[in-house]
Amino acid sequence: MKHVFIIGGGFAGINLVKHLAKDKSLEITLVDRNNYNFFPPLLYQVTTGFLDSPNISYPFRKLLRKYKNVHFLMGELEFVNSEKNAVTIDGKDYSYDYLVIATGVSNNYFGMEQVKANAFPMKTLSDALTLKNHLLRQVEKAALTTDRQEREKLLNVVVVGGGPTGVEISGMLADMKRDILAKDHPDLYDKGHLPHLFLVDGLNVVLKPMSDKTHLYALDALTAMGVDVHLGMQVKDYDGETVFFADGHQITTKTLIWAAGVTGIKFAGLPPESYGRGNRIICDQYNKVQATENIYAIGDACVQTHEAAYPAGHPQMAQIAIQQGKNLANNIIAARRHGSLRPFAYQDKGSMAIIGRNRAVVDLPSKKHFQGRLAFFSWLAVHLLSLATAANRLTTFYRWVVAYFTRDQALRMIIETSNKKD
Ligand SMILES: Cc1cc2nc3c(=O)[nH]c(=O)nc-3n(C[C@H](O)[C@H](O)[C@H](O)COP(=O)(O)OP(=O)(O)OC[C@H]3O[C@@H](n4cnc5c(N)ncnc54)[C@H](O)[C@@H]3O)c2cc1C
Repeated sequence: MKHVFIIGGGFAGINLVKHLAKDKSLEITLVDRNNYNFFPPLLYQVTTGFLDSPNISYPFRKLLRKYKNVHFLMGELEFVNSEKNAVTIDGKDYSYDYLVIATGVSNNYFGMEQVKANAFPMKTLSDALTLKNHLLRQVEKAALTTDRQEREKLLNVVVVGGGPTGVEISGMLADMKRDILAKDHPDLYDKGHLPHLFLVDGLNVVLKPMSDKTHLYALDALTAMGVDVHLGMQVKDYDGETVFFADGHQITTKTLIWAAGVTGIKFAGLPPESYGRGNRIICDQYNKVQATENIYAIGDACVQTHEAAYPAGHPQMAQIAIQQGKNLANNIIAARRHGSLRPFAYQDKGSMAIIGRNRAVVDLPSKKHFQGRLAFFSWLAVHLLSLATAANRLTTFYRWVVAYFTRDQALRMIIETSNKKD
């Protein structure tokens, strides 16, 4: 049996495993630093207490137990020894016949160490829960203080990054300010002590990769919802109390949400010439890593430039990761049977973003665009169907029905975990 080692069980890795498992002559090991798969596009709903973390996550061991040739290993990739066909996971060496890197990306703070230390990222479930606790705690503190400046600092929220994550969390916080604050904190609401929400981006539009109609609609919708959108503004520093902008502007806040940039993760042992712009791993049209023999990369971690429509590489999105996982599985199986390989060809299914209640945008590959209530329900349907299991879909559907009809949810508990680890 040939041994396929897959590092990372996100969209790319899990789709690769599912398709590869059909070939019983392969032994497959999936490695992930977490013991669960999760759905990043809905992280912001965990942060805002509209979904619970189990609604959008599922344990790998349960997800994979039906595949008898698949094993799961919880651990972190540390080193790749391509000469010996071995990887080091948490200090232990394992050999492979094929290695697939599907580790996604990490946050890019563009070298601003203070921003990294003080801002709240939105990439993992732990990030989402940490930010949720922080946001709820700031409002409780604001309800107690009599100092106006302190209260403003506690209630102000600055979101950096006008991509889908930044837009979606800004919109949801604006909806919560309107629908929930008056009920939970009449003490603050009645006195007009309200959060001030800022969304800032260095570019001149929000949702940049989408259509012009989307840019205009999203900006109008956010502004109408009370989000103060500042475009063309670059963050220079953040000390945990004040955000400093390159043009001299300052905003005081205890909450800076960082949704502004990503970078690939570099692994010791992979040849330096395998990495391209943004630390993405350079791959050929079959996802084979440049300057290696039997190492592949898929999903956000990789960059392929063979498709004329994407000369700088594909956008880092879920659909591409899913399709690359499936294509690589088919190619590995085909190669084992001496069949021909298919170069990766991205099937664009369009893009969508939600802004708030009954407000969303959809751009179809045919260049058609729609927005508003229809786009809102399309977004809900697509995201519901994309969740990993029926259990996830059912519990999320229930939570969304409650939220839609009551404009509320009952998940705003601050639950701290201790830092004690084994
Ligand atoms: C908040 C947010 C919202 C998003 N919204 C959308 C959206 O609406 N639409 C869209 O198309 N895309 C969206 N994206 C992007 C989308 O989630 C990514 O394109 C997609 O997840 C990429 O899949 P992947 O498998 O390459 O990486 P990931 O899904 O990130 O999976 C990587 C996996 O690797 C594991 N890992 C990382 N490093 C190691 C290591 N050293 N050792 C072991 N395991 C490791 C991680 O734990 C993770 O499970 C969003 C992303 C975020 C963060």
